[in-house]
Amino acid sequence: MNSDDINPNDPGINPLAVLHFQDRFTRELPADPETDNHRRQVHSACYSLVTPKTAANPALVAFSAEQAADIGLSPKDCESSQFLHVFAGNQLLPGMVPHAMCYGGHQFGHWAGQLGDGRAINLGEVEDIHGQLQMLQLKGAGETPYSRMADGLAVLRSSVREFLCSEAMFHLGIPTTRALSLITSGEQVVRDMFYDGRPQAEPGAIVCRVAPTFLRFGNYELFNARGDIDNLRKLVDYTIRHHFPHLGVPCKQTYLDWFKEVCERTADLVVHWMRVGFVHGVFNTDNTSITGLTIDYGPYGWIDNYDPDWTPNTTDATNKRYRFGHQPQIAQWNLLQLGNAIYPLINDVEPLQQILTDYVETYTQKWQQMRAGKLGLSSYQREADDDLNQQLQKILLLAETDMTIFYRKLADVSCEASASTLGDDDLFAPLMPAYYAPDALSKEDKKDICDWLRRYQQRVRQEGTSDAERKIRMNQINPKYVLRNYLAQQAIDKAHDGDYSLIHELLEVMRRPYDEQPQFEHYAAKRPDWARHKPGCSMLSCSS
Ligand code: AMP
Ligand code: MG
Repeated sequence: MNSDDINPNDPGINPLAVLHFQDRFTRELPADPETDNHRRQVHSACYSLVTPKTAANPALVAFSAEQAADIGLSPKDCESSQFLHVFAGNQLLPGMVPHAMCYGGHQFGHWAGQLGDGRAINLGEVEDIHGQLQMLQLKGAGETPYSRMADGLAVLRSSVREFLCSEAMFHLGIPTTRALSLITSGEQVVRDMFYDGRPQAEPGAIVCRVAPTFLRFGNYELFNARGDIDNLRKLVDYTIRHHFPHLGVPCKQTYLDWFKEVCERTADLVVHWMRVGFVHGVFNTDNTSITGLTIDYGPYGWIDNYDPDWTPNTTDATNKRYRFGHQPQIAQWNLLQLGNAIYPLINDVEPLQQILTDYVETYTQKWQQMRAGKLGLSSYQREADDDLNQQLQKILLLAETDMTIFYRKLADVSCEASASTLGDDDLFAPLMPAYYAPDALSKEDKKDICDWLRRYQQRVRQEGTSDAERKIRMNQINPKYVLRNYLAQQAIDKAHDGDYSLIHELLEVMRRPYDEQPQFEHYAAKRPDWARHKPGCSMLSCSS
């Protein structure tokens, strides 16, 4: 074919021509004037322009068909050579303005100064089919001015985890950044997975993430820490204008309304995490989204046996700051840091303080609603249900009890009048599969569990809900399938052998987490014993 005959708009050659990039962030906000890609402190700027690194030999591992469809791409488009090269970082499309964002953050409770996108590069925004602009971002596409001591790359192991979990969370109905694609770079990346002086080469990978914005609390904190109030205001105004437009023209009251909404969204987010047993693992302020999304999937984990003190993150093993049950308090602590950061725009402590105080009540109300839902109750009645929940928490800790299976099976415990005469064994029977060692349950344990179940039956009967109706309700809020740590690790082990089939299969299962999927029953199984202490299954580090 003569090159004159090539039509750049031919979807066969140029399937990504449907993506029309916009550049609001880079056009409206101050840029770092330096464009050379070396590590530095970047002042008075929201971002630095960077070019993604060329991947030596990219190969597509997986894509999310739903996320692709949302931005107008078909599965065929995702399998095209252009898709591969663009989302490996090897080709820029017209309108893209690749850049890394400048932010700081509190890490493990301490101000860490400038952090920034050390290995994430925003490409630009495209409109999705709902008319909302979505930023596309490559994670693991090379160094930026914010890479500090690290290489700007990501390994396949952590990229599989980010890709699968983003999509699993989305299908669970939990606010999250999304994942469009997972591509191996064809290069090896060296990582010391447990910081024990045994570095190993692992396959490198790039995930294309998608979100309306990747702004974090740390973006605002850094300007305040540097006393750069002009740019703080510019960034807050930008955020409100584009991501909270319903709040109206920025002014003192709008800033307060905005802060209140960020608090509410953060509360919603954490209630969701507590509902499904998700532990973020590094809930630092630089990993806390301003729009209330789950962001930066690192050493996260899912609760197998219910344990509020569990964290998957070995880097946090001593203090367990980011343990499951502590996430609501951490969210409030992070919000306090955001409140401090935007204080200079408001100059009035009292209303900010009030909003933070209200967070506790807001969170509590949302949490109660969630708890009622998990138990199949139509509303939460404080007097009765506070105690019912406290007792349940005790029951769940009597012996290792799988959180996900417990709530799923609780829906099978009959609460109708005919069940009031059931003996302990029959009453308890539906819950047996939730216990890791059912034989180890003592008589007293079983009695305590049955006592609780009888209270629960009575409470449900008060509402007059039928078993069938309650089960439908409960199964819409209590997932059957979550991305258990050992499942993701099995997919990673296979991927290291060049077999991506489990990644594809898990992606498929996690598309319908609330549905019974008999052909995938084994993916709802309890953590097997071999996974109890295996790295990647119960212990993860920040090395990724
Ligand atoms: P995290 O807590 O893992 O989300 O990351 C904390 C900071 O470290 C962020 O500024 C990241 O961009 C940066 N970072 C993490 N891994 C790398 C890497 N491999 N190369 C460059 N920067 C990184
Ligand atoms: Mg981060």
